[in-house]
Amino acid sequence: MAAERYAGSVSHVDTPLIRFPRTLEEAWEKKQENGVDASYIAGGTVIQMQRGQGHPYPPVLISLETIEGLKGITIRGDYLEIGPLTTLEACRRSPLLQQHAPCLVEALMSAAAPAVRNRGTIGGNIMYGKGDTLPALLVLDASVSFFDNSGLQSLPLLSFVNKGENTPDLLSGIKIPFPTDGERMISFFKKTGRREAFSLSVINAAGRLMLDEEEKVAGVRLAAGGGNVLPQRLTEAEDTLRGEMLSTNKLRNLHETLAASFHPSGDPYCSGSYKQKAAAYMILSYLYENMEQSLVKGRVEDA
Ligand SMILES: Cc1cc2nc3c(=O)[nH]c(=O)nc-3n(C[C@H](O)[C@H](O)[C@H](O)COP(=O)(O)OP(=O)(O)OC[C@H]3O[C@@H](n4cnc5c(N)ncnc54)[C@H](O)[C@@H]3O)c2cc1C
Repeated sequence: MAAERYAGSVSHVDTPLIRFPRTLEEAWEKKQENGVDASYIAGGTVIQMQRGQGHPYPPVLISLETIEGLKGITIRGDYLEIGPLTTLEACRRSPLLQQHAPCLVEALMSAAAPAVRNRGTIGGNIMYGKGDTLPALLVLDASVSFFDNSGLQSLPLLSFVNKGENTPDLLSGIKIPFPTDGERMISFFKKTGRREAFSLSVINAAGRLMLDEEEKVAGVRLAAGGGNVLPQRLTEAEDTLRGEMLSTNKLRNLHETLAASFHPSGDPYCSGSYKQKAAAYMILSYLYENMEQSLVKGRVEDA
């Protein structure tokens, strides 16, 4: 699923042939005709960055910009649909996402810089495979629609991510269901990078908790990703919180479970152990702060 990097027979292509299909079917056919010699292109920010890093353009670029209906954020019954060609900035500014998907908006607030956000798309961020939106979308229970050999398909985002690298699927939609299981939602996205800003995550973490009227955790989804860490749900950690009220003891259990069950891979700059500790710290510090605020609010209401 990660961005395809051209590795064909031509060593350097300065002026790739750019195709402008009008429909998804046409785009898919163009890709089938040209195989590894062609890449889809949306905002082009990753493809341009890779070119700067010495990876030539592929001989054929299939622009998705001329296909109608791939931009925008729409309510459809019990879910929100985001078109893959919607820019990161349009998502960040969307009142619908600010209200119903605040952790995604938080992820976008820390992603790249305005110039990249104005060109880069959410579909490109997902297909890049390292984008900050992925863990946020996982905790929002997102699913995606896409074209592959079998036609138009739909899958939970996690299954799509786990399909593996270099899948030449054509992403056509992102769906976020409205939550149903709780009274009050809290959610977060936190990121550790090698710079304060304008930098992909070394490790990131996202969470969404639905609390019932007694402040017990009715639903919980936690996820981590970033850099070379495959975006993943932290299901064992989730199990320690489900059905319980947040308390110092519960958070201690959560910490132990994260240490035992989350084993991110390291890279030349950061060990896996560092990433594990950073992710645990980001999750625990958010939940601890939230627990403290709830306690203070409870005391004020009781007084
Ligand atoms: C300087 C810089 C800083 C950055 N910082 C961050 C950051 O902090 N956080 C972060 O998350 N990201 C960051 N990025 C990456 C940024 O998010 C992506 O550049 C952007 O979202 C990619 O979208 P795009 O439309 O430009 O993708 P493109 O470059 O057009 O495409 C990227 C890949 O996705 C494929 N693709 C695109 N759309 C589709 C589709 N609909 N179906 C199938 N395949 C598709 C393309 O074939 C290509 O392989 C940064 C990038 C740069 C250049």
